[in-house]
Amino acid sequence: MPKRLVDKLRSFIPGSGKKKPLVYQRREIPRDQHNVSRSMISEPAKKVLHRLNKSGYEAYLVGGGVRDLLLNGNPKDFDIATNATPEEVHDLFRNSRLIGRRFRIVHVVFGREVIEVTTFRGNASQVEDDSDDDDRKTSEHGLLLRDNVYGNQEEDALRRDFTVNALYYCIRDFTIVDFANGIEDLRNRQLRLIGDPETRYREDPVRMLRAIRFAAKLGFDIEPETEAPIQELAPLLTHIPAARLFDEVLKLFSAGHGEATYDLLTRYNLLAPLFPETVRAIEAGEPDELIRQALRNTDARIAQGKSVTPYFLFAAMLWPALQAEWRRRQDNGDPVQPALHSAIGRVIGQQVQATSIPKRFSGPMKEIWELQMRLPRRQGKRAFVTLSHPRFRAAYDFLLVREASGEIEPGLGTWWTDFQKLDERGQERMLSELSSDAPKKRRRRRKPPVKRPAQ
Ligand code: ATP
Ligand code: MG
Repeated sequence: MPKRLVDKLRSFIPGSGKKKPLVYQRREIPRDQHNVSRSMISEPAKKVLHRLNKSGYEAYLVGGGVRDLLLNGNPKDFDIATNATPEEVHDLFRNSRLIGRRFRIVHVVFGREVIEVTTFRGNASQVEDDSDDDDRKTSEHGLLLRDNVYGNQEEDALRRDFTVNALYYCIRDFTIVDFANGIEDLRNRQLRLIGDPETRYREDPVRMLRAIRFAAKLGFDIEPETEAPIQELAPLLTHIPAARLFDEVLKLFSAGHGEATYDLLTRYNLLAPLFPETVRAIEAGEPDELIRQALRNTDARIAQGKSVTPYFLFAAMLWPALQAEWRRRQDNGDPVQPALHSAIGRVIGQQVQATSIPKRFSGPMKEIWELQMRLPRRQGKRAFVTLSHPRFRAAYDFLLVREASGEIEPGLGTWWTDFQKLDERGQERMLSELSSDAPKKRRRRRKPPVKRPAQ
């Protein structure tokens, strides 16, 4: 490659001026050297690619779609990168909408499948003598505040996070275009950030979470230089808006490898910025077995094609924090029930400073927790009232997780399992058996009044 071109390319690479210069070269992998065939790509994605090409634009499949196809996996979705502007894409597809304000992308909608089309983006701040550019700004922490400059395909590739996420599939000649040695890293099952890792994490600390997510999901190693800065930079995640972290938490734990993800997050100090009070409680001796058990169940559900609800996940992730807070309040003399209510309020109040929890999830999460106190109380009409509660099923599942984790003695869960299966007569019988062998009510232990020193 001519030197001038190498210099130019180097200047596009985020952080490449900082340590050793990184030079990436464009490579094309022809059809007979890779496994991606057209039949693996969804019809809607093909339609969008063909129409863009026919209209004279460049268009490629990019990102996780290409990565997963090369791994013989089933891509979650197909993203497309093009040199057409969002308005041009929008004009080509009646079934499309423009999304976003500063950096616009286009969603082309085919029933339930949405194809995301983005215009090639550049990396203007890395171009040396371009200091007055104001469309790509970083904060004092190096955080990328704006990232909205159009670019060419090379620039688009090099602003992406991992080399394996910067591969393009061209439907015109069925080649894979690789700017950052992504194919080699994919073969070696390695996650490697493009450019200088520390700079890239400072630009966007969420990339640390993405490293963990892909490592757990794909079973890839994190390449040593990409891995090295994570533990130290993990606290930078506290600068990320709570709503974005909420979305990332969901992605982390709903990819089917929740327990592995949890271990990696813990190992790299990344759990603390996401669940600060949970980590504090665990460090103070609260067990995390319930979290692990819940994540194992979640992984099994996902493997069976079932869904996971965010409120169940958060109910489990925050359980150690709630337990610690609940106990602290009881130790201070609050009765059980009010202590639980105020502990719930506090735990949620603190959590939403780290990750938001939309109301539609925090409500049901509270109900799961509150029902844990009602599930043991079954006498009279109580069992029927609890059973008809809209959140009964989730609370019952949560009870089973508590039992399986060893937090409480097994027994109550089986009782509820049986109770749900019976008709009303059977249920009445279970309840009458319950009252005949119910233990005598224990006398409430009263705390001795606190002696105050004489004034
Ligand atoms: P998934 O299978 O989870 O969808 P993905 O790699 O497609 O994985 P997306 O979040 O859909 O991930 O992002 C699409 C592509 O956009 C990525 O493959 C990557 O190239 C780029 N990208 C996404 N987030 C970032 C980021 N924070 N920094 C740099 N590039 C990113
Ligand atoms: Mg994707």
